Amino acid sequence: MSSLNRRQFLQSLGLASAATAAIAFPGIITAATTRPHVVVIGGGFAGATAAKYLRYWSSAVDVTLVEPNATYYSPILSNLVLNNQRNLGQISFNYNTLASKYGIKVVNDWVDAINAPNQTINLRGGTTLAYDRLIIAPGIQFMDVPGLDSNKVPHAWKAGAQTTLLQQQLAAMPAGGTFVMTIPAAPYRCPPGPYERACVVADWLRTNKPGSKVVVLDANASIIVEPAIFGAAFTEYGVQYVPNAALQGVDSDAKIAHSSAGDFKADVLNVIPPQSAGSIVLQSGLANVGGRWAGVNPLSYESTAVPNIHIIGDSQGTGQPKAGHIANAEAKVCADAILRLLSGGQPYAAPVTNSACYSPISATTASWLTAVYAYDQASGAMKLVPESFGAAAAPSAKYYSRMFDWTTNLFNDTFA
Ligand SMILES: Cc1cc2nc3c(=O)[nH]c(=O)nc-3n(C[C@H](O)[C@H](O)[C@H](O)COP(=O)(O)OP(=O)(O)OC[C@H]3O[C@@H](n4cnc5c(N)ncnc54)[C@H](O)[C@@H]3O)c2cc1C
Repeated sequence: MSSLNRRQFLQSLGLASAATAAIAFPGIITAATTRPHVVVIGGGFAGATAAKYLRYWSSAVDVTLVEPNATYYSPILSNLVLNNQRNLGQISFNYNTLASKYGIKVVNDWVDAINAPNQTINLRGGTTLAYDRLIIAPGIQFMDVPGLDSNKVPHAWKAGAQTTLLQQQLAAMPAGGTFVMTIPAAPYRCPPGPYERACVVADWLRTNKPGSKVVVLDANASIIVEPAIFGAAFTEYGVQYVPNAALQGVDSDAKIAHSSAGDFKADVLNVIPPQSAGSIVLQSGLANVGGRWAGVNPLSYESTAVPNIHIIGDSQGTGQPKAGHIANAEAKVCADAILRLLSGGQPYAAPVTNSACYSPISATTASWLTAVYAYDQASGAMKLVPESFGAAAAPSAKYYSRMFDWTTNLFNDTFA
């Protein structure tokens, strides 16, 4: 959208909010006093950003954010809790600013069901909310792994109590012990994240638990991102990397991972299970990409299965990576499209998103990876812009420092 068009658009919304007659939202406003209501499910990087930008760009819509937790723990940087470079408090956020600064109504509850024909959602607490447009941003849910009890064998792939549990288990591990972690087949949340974790933990064990061993069981055929950097770090740290090791089951008490590459016994076992879109996506009939992810129109993130429902973040099935930075970008595309649709227009026809991941490799160094995705009219899909792809040549202390600049910007753009 050009700046002139955006100004004109915002002016029309501003006039609409001040006017007593319902003129700015044809087809949506049914009474002179009715304002469009957008409900957002999930207050992570995707949902919080969408809620914020809907209100940042328009005072003429009402926005309700439904999220069960008062505190959000960022998975981004959570691997640094494992090596004591960060604590959970430093990666925790609340929704107070979204409420006070942007006028978003925040409801701490869980969405049990969506009634699409009626355009309502049912909250666990008993409330029913009506929406004109619904944004679903529930992140991921974990698929079943036989024998896995995450209270004994943490995933730590959603940050918070699980992160603390894994950190405590590592702290209690005897020197000379074995840390085994498993990586699911792609796609999963944060492609470099598991390799990053293996590096951070291996580096920490070298100093704090001498003689310990790290084993990485990867269901993929090889390291799927930054293979040179992670491969070199694995060699330096003595990590045993096992490709094509699909997890078949877990003995959570004995801490044994049963994989297609054999059984591996651990002192500390970290299983990152295979993932799908959040449960509300699956149970609402929206997971029409491989039965796991939500098919959407990338111009608006509107579901290809059910109208007036948009899915963003890790649950979407556009083929873009499942990562917080790009979830934040998708949220803005979605918010912009919804405001255009509510005012009788069409979504912007050439959206661009970008992804960035900084990966700590040790307690003092990090690498990075970035890519831009652009809408391809011929296929109707978001496509990687090849010349946009960039990655660090080697990890460095400079990148470690920049990692925190990047997260500060992302965190502020989402929650402040
Ligand atoms: C170790 C690690 C490192 C990472 N590093 C990076 C990185 O460097 N760069 C990057 O871009 N990404 C990174 N990521 C990935 C990033 O954290 C996720 O992609 C991002 O959190 C996805 O955002 P989301 O909003 O889709 O989901 P989430 O952040 O999971 O938020 C979903 C929210 O929805 C809520 N919810 C779910 N279901 C319901 C329901 N039925 N009703 C109400 N609320 C519901 C949940 O409570 C949750 O708060 C990393 C992840 C990990 C684990």
